[in-house]
Amino acid sequence: MSKIISALKRTIAGAPDGEAPVHFHQGMTDSFPEVCHDGRCDRPQLQVR
Ligand SMILES: [Zn+2]
Repeated sequence: MSKIISALKRTIAGAPDGEAPVHFHQGMTDSFPEVCHDGRCDRPQLQVR
């Protein structure tokens, strides 16, 4: 089962190792940003300080 999860994570992350890059997008409101785990998405990202 762990092998399947590992393969799935690899596919989602698109990287051989390490965690998937997490970033944020503008959500419904400024206080509620949308979390995105897609490292290849081309939507404008929210700068988190
Ligand atoms: Zn994104």
